Amino acid sequence: MSIDLDLYQDIVLEHKRAPRNFGPLPGATHRAEGTNPQCGDQVSVELKIEQDRIADVRFQGQGCAICMASTSMMTEAIKGASTATAQTLQERFRGVLTGTAEPDAAYLGKLISLAGVARYPSRIKCALLGWHALGHALETPLPGSDHPQEHTP
Ligand code: ZN
Repeated sequence: MSIDLDLYQDIVLEHKRAPRNFGPLPGATHRAEGTNPQCGDQVSVELKIEQDRIADVRFQGQGCAICMASTSMMTEAIKGASTATAQTLQERFRGVLTGTAEPDAAYLGKLISLAGVARYPSRIKCALLGWHALGHALETPLPGSDHPQEHTP
């Protein structure tokens, strides 16, 4: 196994063992799912967006260690962020894994530990699945959630 695998192995296994923000999200305003049939990964991402800010995020599903760890780390990275920041981070992370952006540790923080996945083409989809679901969720408001604070007479 390569040095890259060693570097991210611990953090990946730790997130796989204890995924953060896992479970249903009561009061979710946005939601999307993603599947990666090649590996059998399946995740759904739920967001609670308040005034263009991600007030809360949860994910559910099952997948390989890389898929679960990447999605778990994604939820940590975007919780409390503006939707614009989450969108930018999603694009940057995808760029790093697909080789169109340089891994920037200062920007990516803990997510840099997944940058080594870029060397394993068969696992890139695993690492990006939760992020794709995030991208779709940002654009997919749930019915009736546009103005949750308003009451229709
Ligand atoms: Zn996978």
